[in-house]
Amino acid sequence: MSEKYDVIVIGAGPAGYVSAIRCAQLGLKTACVDDWLDKDGKYVLGGTCLNVGCIPSKSLLESSELYSRCKNELSQHGIYAREVSLELDTMMERKNGVIKDLTRGIESLFKSNNIDWLKGRGRLLANKHVEVAAEDSKSVYQAENIIIATGSSSIEIPGVKYDDQNIVDSTGALEFTEVPQRLGVIGAGVIGLELGSVWRRLGSEVVIIEAQDEFLSVADTQIARDSKREFKKQGLDIRLGARLMSAEVKSAKTGSQVAVQYQDARGDHKEVFDKLIIAVGRAPNSDNLFDEEVELLLDERSFIHVNEQCETSLPGVYAIGDVVRGPMLAHKGSEEGIMVAELIAGNHAEVNYDLVPSVIYTHPEIAWVGKNEQHLKAAGEKYKVGMFPFAASGRARALGVTTGMIKILTHAETDRVLGVHIFGPQASELVAQAVIAMELGASSEDLGLTMFAHPTLSESLHEAALAVSNNAIHIPAKKTKK
Ligand code: FAD
Ligand code: AMP
Repeated sequence: MSEKYDVIVIGAGPAGYVSAIRCAQLGLKTACVDDWLDKDGKYVLGGTCLNVGCIPSKSLLESSELYSRCKNELSQHGIYAREVSLELDTMMERKNGVIKDLTRGIESLFKSNNIDWLKGRGRLLANKHVEVAAEDSKSVYQAENIIIATGSSSIEIPGVKYDDQNIVDSTGALEFTEVPQRLGVIGAGVIGLELGSVWRRLGSEVVIIEAQDEFLSVADTQIARDSKREFKKQGLDIRLGARLMSAEVKSAKTGSQVAVQYQDARGDHKEVFDKLIIAVGRAPNSDNLFDEEVELLLDERSFIHVNEQCETSLPGVYAIGDVVRGPMLAHKGSEEGIMVAELIAGNHAEVNYDLVPSVIYTHPEIAWVGKNEQHLKAAGEKYKVGMFPFAASGRARALGVTTGMIKILTHAETDRVLGVHIFGPQASELVAQAVIAMELGASSEDLGLTMFAHPTLSESLHEAALAVSNNAIHIPAKKTKK
């Protein structure tokens, strides 16, 4: 007789492990299956996010930004560190240490919550049985409820052979052992921009090749335009409307290089890079996940089909995180995980999909929540705009980061905040204030009547809110037609 649980979660990324912890907190007998192996072949928790995603990329973004500021900005403060040098090994060791501490932290949370960690590859069998296959063993477990949280993997470009040395995906790009002199990045999405920024700051000449004509089409157009100008100033050579045709590793006397061919409106182009990062998106991990007789419905792009409550086509089987529709973001998966745990425990729960914040951790950062101007125009919605540039913020000036702005969009009649778009210092933190305001149905007047500490970057949100009614204090009022 196989062991029986209230809940088995398949996948221990930020969707699955958070869900498992919440299930256990709610008194459900919970197990979590995961097959992630670290570089030493040891099972570890945390999935993509902790091992090769959010956390290592932010660790390297922090280190590379510190290096770049020491090299380029210290003298403005009257501080001289004339021989700033880079020890990439130490930077990578620090990153690996951050990962280790966090994945071990989840391990201890599993222990303290009495969650059984089932190590191996999970496969859904009929009647809510789960097979767990490790290297030399196979076991079958049963549960009242199954939560699938198997995440996603990098999309490969057909015909391009990854050698994990010269042509790599985002995981390989977090492991370079030296700074490439010339680095090519395919895809100017979030991951391409973040990883391109890391290596640019450490000294690489970076060329980003992007198929779309428009830069960052997911962001508000104005923010995308301003950020593109800034990234160009930082030395990122972003080539739009350019589609990769082929990439091949060539051996030369000086070592291996990558010969790249791409096509744009002007014709075919060739480039040679020392390394090439392919960051053209991610696809759901839904292959070989369930037995033939299990009638789990997938959509046309192989995402597991779910409704707003993350229920699949099979009663008692839920799916959350990157393996289902919606933005591939850690916090979106975690919130779905909590919702599903609450639903299983018989509680009411929902996720507000309209208010999922997005962040790009460049310098400065880009963050937004809610509708942008393109959305509102397309919907024929009447709206008002309030903008405040960081150049007018005392705190931003003291920090020395005055690029960018906060832009608030509100409903023309009700004044309710519909979207907030930020390009500037600490945008990732500032956007949380916008999410809270919007969750509570705030208007720009509410934000304008709220007191913010001085001097803070948050005051810019206050000023942007005041600007909606043309009442910002630290920028000139817009001239209105008489
Ligand atoms: P995952 O984190 O992918 O976890 C799935 C887990 O399931 C893995 O451990 C996998 O091994 C396991 N698994 C899969 N199949 C099976 C099976 N059959 N049996 C057992 N186990 C299985 N998002 C953000 O919100 N912020 C960021 O800053 C950010 N930065 C990123 C940077 C990079 C370089 C990358 C690649 C991604 C980044 N993301 C970021 C995206 C984020 O990592 C994902 O959205 C998030 O990890 C998805 O969580 P998940 O739990 O759904 O899946
Ligand atoms: P994201 O979806 O945010 O991870 O971004 C991936 C980016 O890669 C998108 O902006 C795509 O347009 C881009 N992309 C996909 N395929 C190619 C290709 N063959 N050449 C250049 N860019 C590509």
